[in-house]
Amino acid sequence: MNPPLVDTFGRPMKSLRLSVTDRCNLRCSYCMPESEYRWLPRSDLLTFEEIGRLLPRFVDLGTSRIRITGGEPLLRSDLPVLVQRVAALAGVEDLALTTNGVFLAREARGLRDAGLHRITVSLDTLSPARFRSLSRSEEHAKVLDGIVEAGKVGFSGLKLDTVVIRGVNDDEIPALLRAAREWSAEIRFIEYMDVGGALLWTPEAVVSQAEILAKVESSVGPVEPLRDTELSAPARRFRTPSGQVFGVVASMTQPFCTHCDRSRLTADGTWYHCLYAPTGVDLRTALRAPGTDAELVEVLTSAWKKRADRGAELRMELRNRAPSVAREDLRADPRLEMHTRGG
Ligand code: SAM
Ligand code: SF4
Repeated sequence: MNPPLVDTFGRPMKSLRLSVTDRCNLRCSYCMPESEYRWLPRSDLLTFEEIGRLLPRFVDLGTSRIRITGGEPLLRSDLPVLVQRVAALAGVEDLALTTNGVFLAREARGLRDAGLHRITVSLDTLSPARFRSLSRSEEHAKVLDGIVEAGKVGFSGLKLDTVVIRGVNDDEIPALLRAAREWSAEIRFIEYMDVGGALLWTPEAVVSQAEILAKVESSVGPVEPLRDTELSAPARRFRTPSGQVFGVVASMTQPFCTHCDRSRLTADGTWYHCLYAPTGVDLRTALRAPGTDAELVEVLTSAWKKRADRGAELRMELRNRAPSVAREDLRADPRLEMHTRGG
């Protein structure tokens, strides 16, 4: 048996975030604050057949956790067809989806039947008015319906992701925690990151893990850290006195680059080794050229062996932090956007 493939820091290629579209029906202020975007050309999007040829190569090299994301992944037509294909791959131990939830009530049953294991819904507020100003959408009720429906069709282990922004939704931490409990979901509070298209980001808007925990504790009492948290997992997990488990993703104040086993494939087949990486590996050209699967494996292997990314740690060393990518660079290369890289 071959030794496991690792990068220059000994990190395996275990998790893949597979973006199936760069389009989105929401305009969250921390992700897509602009009025216009440049989209990936449709003819560049990988077909399900191309993804179906590529993923087994990832799996052969140690990838066992796949998260389907976007943009908004439920905008990709026939998504259950892809889910069924990926779920059937031997070696895929965890197949999850991250969605903004707007179309989840309609899609949940089909995704479940197709073999999707888990769902994470992004939910930043319980207030329709706040949702309107945060996401420029009227569909808040549909997101809540989606969360309920996901539970009804049998998705257990539902997760909620909340980006916490000072002065925007940090006052809702206790209420969101209570709502998560009612839905039997595990909520993860995410520190606002200066990634990609987060052009409105300021250091002052970041609510740190320490502050998030203080807000939780002022509402429910002392929390204890769980020891079972995997080192490569982005969220540190905690338990409240009543036994409710929740997570905090502290990418800004406690980056986890040392254990990061995650890579990202954009919908047009560009493979990034870090959320902050300026460039990626063009797998689409390799896929569309008349090469063999062994040649694809060679492209993946040699690129991963050279991986030395520790983007979040390097950003933390900067003195005056500002959004990590300039507007003109986002215009020139939409793959620098968080909504293209899949978050
Ligand atoms: N549209 C789907 C959704 O919102 O769940 C999937 C794609 S979205 C880019 C994936 C995740 O990235 C979301 O949970 C979102 O909250 C997170 N995200 C986007 N911009 C962020 C930022 N500036 N800081 C922290 N998280 C961010
Ligand atoms: Fe919001 Fe997700 Fe769309 Fe970004 S991709 S605007 S986080 S719903």
